[in-house]
Parts: sequence; C-alpha cells; structure tokens
Amino acid sequence: MNYKELADLLYPHITKTIEDYEKMYPERDLKEGQMVTRFAPSPTGRVHMGNLYASFFPQMFARNTDGIFILRIEDTDQKRAIENGVELILDDLHDYGYKIDEDPIKGGAYGPYIQSERKEIYETFAKHLVSIGRAYPCFCSEDDLTHMREVQEARKDRIGYYGHYAKCRNLTIEEVKEHLDKGDKFVIRLKSMGDFNKRMSFTDLIKGTIELPENDLDQVLIKSDGIPPYAFAHVVDDHLMRVTHVTRDDSYISSVPYHFELWDAFGFKKPLFAHLLPLCKKDNGNIRKISKRKDPEAAISFYHENGYPKEAIKLYLATLLNSNFEEWYLQNPGSSYLDFTFRFDKMSTSWALFDLDKLISISKEYISKLKAEEVYNYTLKYAEEFDKEFYDLLTKYKDYSINVLNIEREVERPRKDIENFKAVRREIEYMYDELFNPTYEKKDFYDKNMLIDYIDNVYDENDDKQTWFDKIKEMCPKYGFCTDNKEYKANPDKYKGNTASACEALRVAVTGRVMSPDLYEILKLLGKTRIKERIEKF
Ligand code: GLU
Ligand code: ZN
Repeated sequence: MNYKELADLLYPHITKTIEDYEKMYPERDLKEGQMVTRFAPSPTGRVHMGNLYASFFPQMFARNTDGIFILRIEDTDQKRAIENGVELILDDLHDYGYKIDEDPIKGGAYGPYIQSERKEIYETFAKHLVSIGRAYPCFCSEDDLTHMREVQEARKDRIGYYGHYAKCRNLTIEEVKEHLDKGDKFVIRLKSMGDFNKRMSFTDLIKGTIELPENDLDQVLIKSDGIPPYAFAHVVDDHLMRVTHVTRDDSYISSVPYHFELWDAFGFKKPLFAHLLPLCKKDNGNIRKISKRKDPEAAISFYHENGYPKEAIKLYLATLLNSNFEEWYLQNPGSSYLDFTFRFDKMSTSWALFDLDKLISISKEYISKLKAEEVYNYTLKYAEEFDKEFYDLLTKYKDYSINVLNIEREVERPRKDIENFKAVRREIEYMYDELFNPTYEKKDFYDKNMLIDYIDNVYDENDDKQTWFDKIKEMCPKYGFCTDNKEYKANPDKYKGNTASACEALRVAVTGRVMSPDLYEILKLLGKTRIKERIEKF
C-alpha cells in the first residue's frame, strides 16, 4: 500500500506538513525547572469550584517556576458550548487573580487557543499518520458497527474496533477510491500496534507508577465531520503548545495507554502527567463529585453573593491541594499562598473533600488578620452591590465605621466572628442608631436604675480600661452584685449576680446582645449621649 498516496487521496486540500507546524511552534526557550501548564475547559458555563480547584495548581506551578500558564478552550463538543463561554471563563479566572499567560483573547505565539479554530492543524497531523501507515480511513456505517458489537457480544469477545474486527484496516487503495467516489463518509482511525495482553506502565506525578494493559483499539482520531475527539486533539495541542506538565482529571488515567500510543506514533517527546481526583463531597455517606446542579456552594456566585474574600477561597484550595500547606501557612504569619512552593508529591492521592465549614473557618481567620480599613473597603464594595442601606451608612460614617471595625483587631488575639463581608453588618449593626432595633430578653438582674446611676454619675469617657472596670466593680455592692467570685459561687442566692452580670446588663442595654466584642471600646465609640439614650430606651 502506498500510504502517501492514500493520505493525499483523503486530504488533497492539506498542503502543510507537520514539519511546517514544528517550525511555526518551536520548542520554548525554557530555563531549568520552568513549567508550561494549561487548563483546558470546555466552554459550557461559568467557572465553578471544581474548575477553580483544577486550574489553581497548574496556574501555581507556572507561577512558582516563572513558567507559562495557558488557557485552552476545548470546544470540539459544540453541542455543549455556550455563547460567550470563553469570556465568562476568562472573567472568572481573572476575578480570582489567576495569572494567565496565553489565552484565546490575549493570544500568544502558540495559538489559536480554541480547538475549533485548529481544524487544519488536526487534519495535517492525521494526514501525517495516514502517510506513515499509522492511521487509515474507516467507512463503516452505524449499522456495521452495531452488527460488529452484536457479534462480539454473542462470542463474549471484548467490544471495540480492533484486531480482525478492524475490517477497514485492509481496504485497498481502489476500495478507498470507490468509497470516496460514492461520497461515503469516513472517520480516521489509529492503526494500533498494541497488545491487550501486554502491560505498559507510566509514572504519574501524583500517584507514582501505574500499570495498565496496552491499547489495541483502533480509536477514532478524526470524526466524519472533521472534528477530533479529545485524545487526538490534546496530543496535537499539548505537543504544539509545548506543554511540559499535563494536569487533568483522574478520569483520564485509563486512557493513558491509548494517549501514549498516539504520542509515540508521532515520535513526540511526552510531557509529564499528573492526574488529580476531582473535588468531592460527602452525600448521605457516599462520596461524589461536587456538582453545579446539586450543590449551591459549587457555584462561585455563592461566594460572591455572600462576600467571601477570594484570598480565603484560594487559601482553602491551597490547603486541599498540598498537605503541608496549612502548617506552613500557620508558621508563616502574614504570608500569602503565592509565597508557597507547591509540589506534586505533596498532592493528595485520596479524595479532596470539599468542606464549607473548613472554608468558613479559614475565611474567619483571614478576615481577622485584615486591617480595619481593608475590612471597611471590602465591606463597602460588597454592600454597594448587595446592601444599599448599609452602604449608605458606611459611606456616611466612614471614620466611625473603621473605628468600629478596629475593635479587637490588630491585637494578639483578634476577633474571629466575621466569616465574610456580608456578615460584617450582622456583627456591627448595633453600632448604628439607624439599625439599632434590639429585642431584649429581660432578665431579673438587668437593673435599669443601676444603669442610669452609672451613666449619670460614674461613666467617664476619659477613663482608661482598668479605671473604667474598677468603677463598675465599685458600684456593684450598692445594687446587690457580688464582686468576689468565690463568695458568689458559694452563696449565689444572696446576690443579684456578680460583676459579669452587671456588665452583661450594660452590654445588653447598649448593644442589644449578650455577647459582643470589647465593651469598653464599644462604649467609647458610642459616646456618653448615645449610651444614655440607649439605657433610657432599655
Ligand atoms: N476538556 C477536558 C475537560 O474539561 C480537558 C482535559 C485536559 O485537561 O486535558 O475535561
Ligand atoms: Zn471500518
């Protein structure tokens, strides 16, 4: 068989060769250790948590090594593609501060970065495999394939197009011409040299050595509409884009023998591979992939609408990705995930379970370390979009608000009650008269007379904290509060309460709550007049 003739017969319009593309996309001039990574989503909608997770680490590896991170859009399945899909993905990734070096909009020297614009490249590469006898046209109809499957089932044979079942392998050039003259549709199949009874092995950067049976299926490289399925497209793309590290979903592992056969058929140097288990969730005792449809917390709009800091989300992803990250972060206060060197061998080989509670606790921790002015700015931005009433108050009382947010901040043990910028209002709204509408739960020891006596005759805005506290203590006995805790514990019935109870009464009167941050600071910021108003309302 003259394979060259066959190739020209199938692809007369393809005049370029793979050497032309090798020249167009030369090897990158990389320094030792520099990585070229990519994220290759289908344009099926907004980025979700699973995408953010899957793209976080290739992006970080490129960043850590001063390398290149590519966004490639895999839109060969046009049915699932949505309009603006590319823009939406880019917007979301940029929003999260992901640094993308080459993408469909910005471009780059190794584009196009959208698979549907690479049709001629795929055909050239398929033509090449035909011309060296490693691929061939298959004219089997749906019916032919169904029939083949039925025979295989009846004989209890393995299902698929392989070995003696691969009947189009042996078409003569005349038979091919006949089909073409009739206008018959064809696909291009790999001529596999594999042996299913032999095993191949490869090294996964996360899982280590993996052994699998060789591929012996003559899989489809180019469909009858000219579009390549994933396997063929990714080999061509990752090669021409000179990707050094392919990071992708664990579900591709079983196809690696086939993929490797393709790389070898071309004679290309293979990149390294890392297969990552997807983000999962416990659901009724079962573990399943996190789902856009079933889990509200899978959508990144959830985090936007609740005002979660993006940094906290990335800290959480970093925690999930590298087992030693959390410890490092605790030991390096004030650092960012950007200062951490991510490693494949610290990646989890088991399920990464998405845990919103953990994310919340990381977020609380993160917000607790921000400066008051930063919290103010983030909250303002959040409120501008989601809470106009609060936004107006924050704007009107800017300095006051920053002071309020500064209570128990920038101290050794800062307050950790704020999990997102939506929650800021919940935690501080009593500091605004416009929002102060308490419903108190009355307790016997809430002694209004004492509070009035206190604000009229005792409270002095100029007192330091110790003096302030001593003065409260001093007036306790007069109103039946015990200042000696041992004594109080021994004879609780003799007293209205202890010093803490007296403080609680004051706290509830001015904040409407049993718990609050530092009462001394709250009183100072409210000022004597407003304290008095609140006590009188109590
Ligand atoms: N388009 C594929 C997916 O979304 C990409 C797989 C890969 O990264 O190679 O699963
Ligand atoms: Zn066939």
